[in-house]
Amino acid sequence: MSRETDFIIVGAGAAGLLAAVAARRLGLDVLVVEATAQVGGTTCASRGAMWLPGNDLMIKLGMDDPATKVLDYLNTVLGDTTEASTLARRAAYANSSVKMVRWLTSSRIPLMIMRGLPDYHLAEDGGKAQGRVLATQYANLDSLGEWADRLRTNSAATAKPGGIKKFFSAKPATTTATRGEALVAELLRRATANGVEFWFDSPLIELVSANGSVSGVIVERDGQRQEVSARRGVLLACGGFEANQYLREEHLPLPTDTHWSLNEPLNTGAGIEAGIAIGAETAAMSTAWWVPVILVDGKPYRIDKARQAPHGIIVDQAGDRFFSEAAGPSILGRYLYSRSRGGVHAVPSFLIMDNRHRSSYELGPWKPGSTPRKVIESGDIFRANTLNDLAQELGIDRAGLIGTVVRFNSFAHKGQDEDFHRGESDWDRFGLGGSKKKNPGLSKLDKSPFWAVKLYPGDSGTKGGLLTDENSRVLHQDGSIIEGLYACGGVAASMMKSTSPGPGAGLGEALIEAYRAVLTLDAAND
Ligand SMILES: Cc1cc2nc3c(=O)[nH]c(=O)nc-3n(C[C@H](O)[C@H](O)[C@H](O)COP(=O)(O)OP(=O)(O)OC[C@H]3O[C@@H](n4cnc5c(N)ncnc54)[C@H](O)[C@@H]3O)c2cc1C
Repeated sequence: MSRETDFIIVGAGAAGLLAAVAARRLGLDVLVVEATAQVGGTTCASRGAMWLPGNDLMIKLGMDDPATKVLDYLNTVLGDTTEASTLARRAAYANSSVKMVRWLTSSRIPLMIMRGLPDYHLAEDGGKAQGRVLATQYANLDSLGEWADRLRTNSAATAKPGGIKKFFSAKPATTTATRGEALVAELLRRATANGVEFWFDSPLIELVSANGSVSGVIVERDGQRQEVSARRGVLLACGGFEANQYLREEHLPLPTDTHWSLNEPLNTGAGIEAGIAIGAETAAMSTAWWVPVILVDGKPYRIDKARQAPHGIIVDQAGDRFFSEAAGPSILGRYLYSRSRGGVHAVPSFLIMDNRHRSSYELGPWKPGSTPRKVIESGDIFRANTLNDLAQELGIDRAGLIGTVVRFNSFAHKGQDEDFHRGESDWDRFGLGGSKKKNPGLSKLDKSPFWAVKLYPGDSGTKGGLLTDENSRVLHQDGSIIEGLYACGGVAASMMKSTSPGPGAGLGEALIEAYRAVLTLDAAND
């Protein structure tokens, strides 16, 4: 039996939930179809940082951030326009950010500035030292009632509540969610209170379309194909293709592996494939939100702090450094691939540390000074008494590694990285926790034993997807609009090309696209 509703949303991550609440507020009947038994998707595993420039929280603190300046900054960072990174989409981000934050605030979603977190390109015109990155405060899960069981629990390797202390001053309530989970919990509470309907365990199979417009979806429910018609539209909010090895190998640089992705294996590109099947255009398919990771027992861990810490360097398989170890994750991940050309191999690369590093800093799941013997035996981490032996164990160029360490140690002595300027940008200094030392990340590697871990170009999601306009409407291959079909987040091609303006741009972009889809749906009815 076929069902009918006003608005169908595919995927119950933060973007899908935001659209559901916004559409319900407009009086639409909303059905969310979700492939799993839970809400929250990747968002629940995320830090929940949202790059939302121009927000009122900044203004209250006296930080002026007009949309024109934000757009200047975006244009400088993103450079030439592309089919996915149009001026119109950039302007939509800059202009809608403040409105969406107001919408969240008026919906009583408690937001806070992540203190001290800067843009990635502070030196560029319009870059800001802080204020643009927001997060949701602690959410009280008790108020979700039985829906609390539907909330995906936070299982990402990096998602440790302790890590947010430096940003948040508020104290948690009794049963709380933090980070991305808090955002999802707050949106879920409003969705359920306002009568949004959910179908769980109901993955999208295909879109129903005729004459260039979409009128509904077919999902699998209770083992059956079930058609649902949408009077007003369908929003794809079901993530990218990070969990699909076949699509990764077809589109991303090689080598690539689903196991390097920090995402839970939820998003298989079903929304993108459904769009392609009805003639939608795709863009930016070869890039991702790169995050360099190490693998421990096959599981990826981001190591941002460890790679920025003193007494460590990153080298390729020739033993050479090739960038500032303290660069932003998205930039650094890209380097691992761009370095792997012309006979040089940099996937994996290696984080080389001396014993002071291992004694003083957390590395993946390992506390400072504590490295289980079994992980040395399994080859997840390497240890050797000399750099020569370490290079041999890693199978990398010995003379290359020793020469690199000698050169780096001379830079450490001078306090200046003459090759890659590590520690000189504001972003690099932020990662070092505001130390007063001239260049605190630049310290010698000379205390044995030496340690190494393999570094892979992991990701926190793919960037490629269906081509959309500035109102989140999906486009045909000829550039015309597919009526009734919207896309946001990982399903839609990101405008951010192979870079990022600041922490939280992935979630920021997804939410703004979801918000704009609903505004467009509303305007279409006028
Ligand atoms: C460890 C980690 C940390 C991160 N931290 C940040 C951060 O701090 N800031 C930031 O900007 N970004 C961060 N990200 C990325 C961020 O999580 C995503 O950009 C964001 O969550 C995307 O939200 P979404 O709603 O579009 O997708 P998701 O939250 O992934 O939701 C997609 C939903 O669609 C469902 N789905 C998939 N296929 C189907 C189908 N066929 N039918 C129906 N439903 C389907 C999934 O089950 C899921 O529930 C992080 C990612 C990771 C892994």
